[in-house]
Amino acid sequence: MTKPRVRFAPSPTGFMHIGNFRSALYDYLFAKKNDGDFVLRIEDTDQKRFVTGALESLINVLNWADVNYTEGVFQKDSKFQIPNSKFYDSKSYKGIIEIGEYGPYIQSEKLEVYKKYAETLVKDGHAYYCFCEPERLEEMRRDQQAKKQPPIYDQYCLRNVTPEEVNKKLKSNCPYTIRLKMPKDEMIEFDDIIRGKVKFDTNLVDDQVLLKSDGYPTYHLANVVDDHEMKITHVIRGEEWLSSAPKHLILYRYFGWEPPQFAHVPLLLNTDRSKLSKRQGDVAVEDYIKKGYLKEAIINFVIFLGWNPGEGSTQEIFTLEELTQKFDLSCVHKGGAVFDIQKLDWINSQWIKKLSIDELYERSLEFWRQKEFYNIWDKEQQRKNNKEKGDYIKKVLTVERDRLINLSGVGENNIFFFVSDIDYDKNLLRWKEMSDENLKASLQKSLDILTEISDPLWTKENLEKLLVEAAGDKKGDLLWPLRAALTGQQKSPSPFEVAWVLGKEESIKRIKKALSL
Ligand code: GLU
Repeated sequence: MTKPRVRFAPSPTGFMHIGNFRSALYDYLFAKKNDGDFVLRIEDTDQKRFVTGALESLINVLNWADVNYTEGVFQKDSKFQIPNSKFYDSKSYKGIIEIGEYGPYIQSEKLEVYKKYAETLVKDGHAYYCFCEPERLEEMRRDQQAKKQPPIYDQYCLRNVTPEEVNKKLKSNCPYTIRLKMPKDEMIEFDDIIRGKVKFDTNLVDDQVLLKSDGYPTYHLANVVDDHEMKITHVIRGEEWLSSAPKHLILYRYFGWEPPQFAHVPLLLNTDRSKLSKRQGDVAVEDYIKKGYLKEAIINFVIFLGWNPGEGSTQEIFTLEELTQKFDLSCVHKGGAVFDIQKLDWINSQWIKKLSIDELYERSLEFWRQKEFYNIWDKEQQRKNNKEKGDYIKKVLTVERDRLINLSGVGENNIFFFVSDIDYDKNLLRWKEMSDENLKASLQKSLDILTEISDPLWTKENLEKLLVEAAGDKKGDLLWPLRAALTGQQKSPSPFEVAWVLGKEESIKRIKKALSL
């Protein structure tokens, strides 16, 4: 095959939707595997939906995920900037540059090009001017709805406005749109890489507006023109664009261009199989980053929405690198892909377990800093330097790692590590029906054992060994009061782990306080 060229073509309308991110990942994997080019193009022709900062945010997410594209739109200081390659500054966005020979890669920067193409279609009889006012279109739609007819334009302007009238209206600056003239009574067929043969009845397809009255092209025109001009060979996008494919194919036909191959990836669904929507939970990649999901996990999870490495494979944890080897576009499923947050949690916890404690510490630091209990504790540790404080946090993480679902949860279940004077009801110390006497004796016994342990022997393993030995077959009698004294909690990690993190001095202090209660 000729060198494939794929593009990710998001619209800067807010955030990186999980579904869009999946398309970008499939683009990336496909290009990487087939040694192709991967272009980032920005489709910003819908002025009404434009959101300031969205373009930067899209680029940031791709950068964050190491989804490396090779051409198109970059931030000036992007780590993906190709060294020594020629670039030019974007005309409309500050700090944004464009790299590659098929630019502009930002659609609002080439409005004249689309206009010219739309007018060519009119000249060739494949499109026509429409002067219908919004009110008329609205009324037509209501009428169609009432009659249960498909909501498509009734071709009023094509049938009723003569060429002379068109000229007159254009001269007097009447607002207009340019509409595609869909052929009638035809079945449009194409082979989708994922869905196989797909057919559309042209009688049910609208005479799509190609050029809007504000002079901007619609998505359909700009998308086809750009895919052609940028020599895109494979279009990978969400199933929600499938119904646009016949319009695009007709445009390719009218222009006399060869269409790219299409791959429409399945819709994302909630667990109740309704379409994934914001109402049911977060749908932006940014939301999951903020919640402390690791990029390895998000990527791993998102790629598996609609694809897996095939029969017989039970492996679920993959790096992006491994996925590049395995990925095959034609094995993406047709059916909707369920977005199961529990699955994401599981994948994330697996990835957290794979991190070294040092890595986990580095990557969780921003989340610690968001927590009030951490900041208060941090201020109180004036005697300690950063290394000592860091070592303490690393110990907490050692204890927490296996139970951690995402990084924003660090410390949350174990705040007692950060509170100098823990508060609890003294009855919490009592194991079952234990008498006051026995409780006291139990705490005293723990105190004696711990006091005997010298600093170098203060390890989790040693603490466990000594305490378990001392407890004999009445584990609860010794270990429950100790654990409660150290944590003040009904539930917590084991007393050995807790004592190890707290250190000798603090552990002894807490047991003494329990005895005094
Ligand atoms: N701009 C469209 C979007 O926001 C691109 C669709 C396509 O890839 O053709 O998803």
